[in-house]
Amino acid sequence: MMIGEPAPSQYDWRFNLFGFPIRVTWLFWVINAALGYNLAMGLNQAYRMTEQGSPGVFSFLLLWVLCAFVSVLIHELGHSLAFRFFGIESQIVLYHMGGVAIPTAGFIFRRSGVRRRLSHWDQMIISAAGPLLQFASAILMAIVATAMGVRVPVVSDWLSWLQDIGIAIPWLGTGEATTNPWTLATFQFYILISIWWPLFNLLPVYPLDGGHIVQHAAAMIRRTDGTNEAYGIGAVTGFLVAYWFFQSGSVFNAMLFLSLAMSNVQAMQRLGGPPRW
Ligand SMILES: [Zn+2]
Repeated sequence: MMIGEPAPSQYDWRFNLFGFPIRVTWLFWVINAALGYNLAMGLNQAYRMTEQGSPGVFSFLLLWVLCAFVSVLIHELGHSLAFRFFGIESQIVLYHMGGVAIPTAGFIFRRSGVRRRLSHWDQMIISAAGPLLQFASAILMAIVATAMGVRVPVVSDWLSWLQDIGIAIPWLGTGEATTNPWTLATFQFYILISIWWPLFNLLPVYPLDGGHIVQHAAAMIRRTDGTNEAYGIGAVTGFLVAYWFFQSGSVFNAMLFLSLAMSNVQAMQRLGGPPRW
């Protein structure tokens, strides 16, 4: 995501990574703990049934939040490294729902002594780089798990889904089901987050990455700034995704996409009505 910067607070954690200033707000930890609570509870229940017992729901929750932190940070690093590829430095903020990579000096950069503005293509590449790097990290973790001989449930699920649509990937996902709660939870949580997070972000709903990609694609095709088209598609997609989540009983995600859809509608109204196709 690339939107305005959330207000700094004294509870923020700040550090530098690869020359990028990083700020993590306290709400990032709280919201992500809430998002992972049901899964941590489920795993805790499952291990309590076994002979070895469970390390406890709090341990699982801590591991979940840690996985979310690393995964979302890699996502934002994808945006920041792409910005840097174009000669633009940026800072990263992880806040309640996710992260933002904010260019420190706008979209203007200098190449061979000439001042240039990022083209629509450049901005589509930057928007896609975050989800792609995060997704690549999920594949890397799946490879590591397979090399260790550990079978991860989420990897097996996705591989069988891929097989159903005719894509068979040999070797990946083989191995034994592990009984070690730390190994299982680390792989399961990390890969789960690093598949779903980029998929959500690629939905064409502004201000998610997918919404930015739609905006710049529309700008190129229609020679406008593309915002009106992005808000229109964002509103429709947002409502559809919210409806789908309501149907599947995921109220939290439904509310999230409902509010995204509403903000797209409001942005459209500010611009003066739906786009004319
Ligand atoms: Zn992003």
